[in-house]
Amino acid sequence: MKHNRSLLAALPALAGALALAAPVAAQLGAEPGDTTVFRPLSLPTPNEYRLSTGEPGPRYWQQRADYRVEATLDTAAQSVSGSVGIRYTNHSPAPLRFVWLQVDQNLYRPGSAGSYLNSADDRWGARDFPGGYDLRSVRVAGAAVQPYVHDTMMRIDLPTPLAPGGTVAIDISYAFKVPEHGSDRMGREGSLYQVAQWFPRMAVLDDVRGWNTDPYLGQGEFYREYGDYDVAVTVPAGYVVAATGTLQNPAEVLTAAQRERLARAATSATQVAVITADEAGTASTRPHGTAGTTTWRWRAENVHDFAWAASPRFRWDSETVGGVRCHAFYQAQDTAWVTAADMTCASIHDFSTRWFPYPWPQATSVAGPVGGMEYPMFVMVHGTGASPSVFSTIAHEHGHEWFPMIVSSNERRYAWMDEGFNTFIDQFPNAARYGDADRNNAGQGYFRRRYAELQGAGRDQSLMLPPDRISPAGLGVTGYRKPGMVLNLLRDQVLGAETFDRGFREYVRRWAFKHPTPADFFRTMENVSGRDLSWFWRGWVYGTEALDQSVAEVKQTADSAGGWNAEIRLETSPRLVMPVTLRITTEGGQTRDVQLPVEVWYGGPSYTYRVHLPSKATAVTIDPLDQLPDVNKGNNAWKPV
Ligand SMILES: [Zn+2]
Repeated sequence: MKHNRSLLAALPALAGALALAAPVAAQLGAEPGDTTVFRPLSLPTPNEYRLSTGEPGPRYWQQRADYRVEATLDTAAQSVSGSVGIRYTNHSPAPLRFVWLQVDQNLYRPGSAGSYLNSADDRWGARDFPGGYDLRSVRVAGAAVQPYVHDTMMRIDLPTPLAPGGTVAIDISYAFKVPEHGSDRMGREGSLYQVAQWFPRMAVLDDVRGWNTDPYLGQGEFYREYGDYDVAVTVPAGYVVAATGTLQNPAEVLTAAQRERLARAATSATQVAVITADEAGTASTRPHGTAGTTTWRWRAENVHDFAWAASPRFRWDSETVGGVRCHAFYQAQDTAWVTAADMTCASIHDFSTRWFPYPWPQATSVAGPVGGMEYPMFVMVHGTGASPSVFSTIAHEHGHEWFPMIVSSNERRYAWMDEGFNTFIDQFPNAARYGDADRNNAGQGYFRRRYAELQGAGRDQSLMLPPDRISPAGLGVTGYRKPGMVLNLLRDQVLGAETFDRGFREYVRRWAFKHPTPADFFRTMENVSGRDLSWFWRGWVYGTEALDQSVAEVKQTADSAGGWNAEIRLETSPRLVMPVTLRITTEGGQTRDVQLPVEVWYGGPSYTYRVHLPSKATAVTIDPLDQLPDVNKGNNAWKPV
């Protein structure tokens, strides 16, 4: 985590903040000579933008980007062309002489960096497609400029510096051919188009790294600024469009029957068919027949992206939960999707009540070739598969409405704060619908099995690796299940559910619609729980050491009153420690469980627990309920020889 001192140093008004921060930095440094797992984690120096408590500071700032997009889908040429007008507002404390944009479609240009990183037929691969942006004009405040394009990033030099508080208008006209397989985030199949990462979008400028110009290589997703979107999509008149946001012109693009059904769905807790199975694909679904084109207009407020899908064959179901409209768009062959609008509402309801209220008016699920991908108010999920599998993915993709759509961390850097946090929260709606999340491969047991496989194969990786540097074969564990497991360990074995949930909710509340870093999460959890968790983050988030607790030796001596004094020597992996649960069985078969705090390892990786027992111990077992991902369970139990 680089701290942008040059920007701060340039501003005399902030000299006070730096002076304040210096003594804090000194406190944060590890004690000289302390090389143990318990030494304080070295985190970025707190400042007025980000406080030592993990909260946004009084001078926290964030850029804003509002978009007006007008685009046309040409199904004959299989292309999208249009224009994007961006109003970019500089809330940073310094003037900007240039800005950076993401031009993600350039991943599909032959020779892109991502095309070398991921082979053509990979999930994230570009499939040898001659794509990429055709940038027809780029204007700043109405005047043509020549952008600098480097792979999937584009720099625009501003003719005059953009002062703090100022706004600049950037207008770009562009076109691209829609790849059949767009890294499993967008694409097309037959007449169905799933369109995302589809217009030039502002990169994030933040107080931590300056401009975030990590390229789009395929595996890393996004990091984006908030704003309002007005989007007009022109499609062949036979097509129905689903999208982020609220439809602005239903009278022009929907039939009277569809509008009446939507009005009913708005107060219905059960599904209403807006386009029935019999109607799907027929001219009756279109208000003016299927000749020519239709323009669908959408508006979305306070979101950081926009995606849409279009097909002439959609079925469409809708229902409402807690004022949020849930929509499912799918085709005849997507048999499990007949309850997908309800699955969507169930997911939104669980996350809303448990963590933070869903802030937008609608949530849309679309079935198609994209196996699972999230955008604000809009997700794409595999059409094939049985109901539990479809539900699990719908819940996961809508879980992303919390991470990263509400809590906008940098997913091109930290998969675990987005995929991992989301995998953790997904277990709750899966448990609610199936009784046990593990039955749907969405629970702790599944996370641990997948982690154990990777750890056992020697391929465990640090959660702090950017997603594009996590091995593709290990991404499902390192980006998803391992962080899911790690949060469960923190919740169930370290903090307790109530304290963990309070901290996790506070993290979401503090950073809703903002850009948190790992340090902001660590500090929030520590400040809410009142614990120094350096050892936990170091071991589980940064490290790849395996956990191994063992009962090394038990000595017992009889005392004069007929009892026994036992000395139980325990050992741990030195760089990955956890609290200890010990079960002592004594003659006669009585057992007692002892909880030892993590501080027992303060003296090193060996600890002797001394206890007086009424009768002689016949067995001592560490982690008796198998709650820890201990890699060597063979040394967990002691019995007298
Ligand atoms: Zn995901």
